[in-house]
Amino acid sequence: PIRYLTGITTSGTPHLGNYVGAMRPTVQASRRAGTENFYFLADYHSLIKCDDPQRIQRSTLEIAATWLAVGLDPDKVFFYRQSDIPGIPELTWLLTCVTGKGLLNRAHAYKAAVDKNTAAGTDPDADVTAGLFMYPVLMAADILLFKANKVPVGRDQVQHIEMARDMASSFNHLYGEHLVLPEAEVDDNVALLPGLDGRKMSKSYDNVIALFAPREQMRKQIFSIVTDSRAPGEPKETEGSALYQIFRAFASDDEAAALKKAFADGIAWSDAKQAVFERIDRELAPMREKYDHYMAHPGEIEQILQAGGAKARERATPYMAQLREAVGLRNLS
Ligand code: ATP
Repeated sequence: PIRYLTGITTSGTPHLGNYVGAMRPTVQASRRAGTENFYFLADYHSLIKCDDPQRIQRSTLEIAATWLAVGLDPDKVFFYRQSDIPGIPELTWLLTCVTGKGLLNRAHAYKAAVDKNTAAGTDPDADVTAGLFMYPVLMAADILLFKANKVPVGRDQVQHIEMARDMASSFNHLYGEHLVLPEAEVDDNVALLPGLDGRKMSKSYDNVIALFAPREQMRKQIFSIVTDSRAPGEPKETEGSALYQIFRAFASDDEAAALKKAFADGIAWSDAKQAVFERIDRELAPMREKYDHYMAHPGEIEQILQAGGAKARERATPYMAQLREAVGLRNLS
């Protein structure tokens, strides 16, 4: 079967970008027949960027509640916390030992950090942890442990999937055909949403519109999206407008065309923002109720995650035993 896998880093509050770019499309896809779907809370990954234990715990609850509110059915999919699966760090080590250091030197996230330090005239590795450097290996283990063959990602993540393929090939070359080579699935219709400041909306930039903030707060956040200084009556550009791009991700083609026309006709920014708020709120309001229910009952979330972890381990543990044996490690009996 086709096996899809998606993870969200537990480094903050889930935002409109996570919803549009990952949660909405994958939950829709999980309803297709003949697929297996793996959703996980990437809490090991969050340690790379976040050293605040309370933030990680809160984020884990928020992201789990969000998946459930958006319509993920935990009985039909694999839904788990990464750190509940001991096979993931175990496989990470096996892969580390077949991965060239040079391959990791070329990973985007690491290179970006090195370039930044070099430009600032400091030691290229100044603030780089081994965790950041090793991140593609942990990500490969997430994928390979569940034999996921399709990984829906944004363009910026394609390189990491290729690295996972490289690692799997090296492993198979040495130890036999044990690992399944994954493919990236890039959907060009899925928008990359800009944040309040115009950069990519990202939990770690603190420029997000929270997905399930209370209504009034969401309205305030939408009103704080940066726009240009054109007055009411002056025509406005949709090109390069963060406000329009965010609207586009929620609107039908007709609705988008109507807003585009309103821009050209000189709609006031405040009226445009109100329209965007109302459109987004229409889609999210029914889910917000479910989200609020789960956040008020964290015990229910924990129960679902415990059951999901057990189900995922049932799949992963025998496979991990096979991989251990393949490299010459013995298994605990
Ligand atoms: P972090 O800052 O911790 O990396 P993030 O908010 O950028 O977090 P991730 O948890 O790394 O998001 O990504 C989870 C999923 O959400 C990925 O599939 C990613 O492509 C998607 N995603 C993240 N930000 C956006 C965005 N601005 N627009 C569309 N999709 C996004």
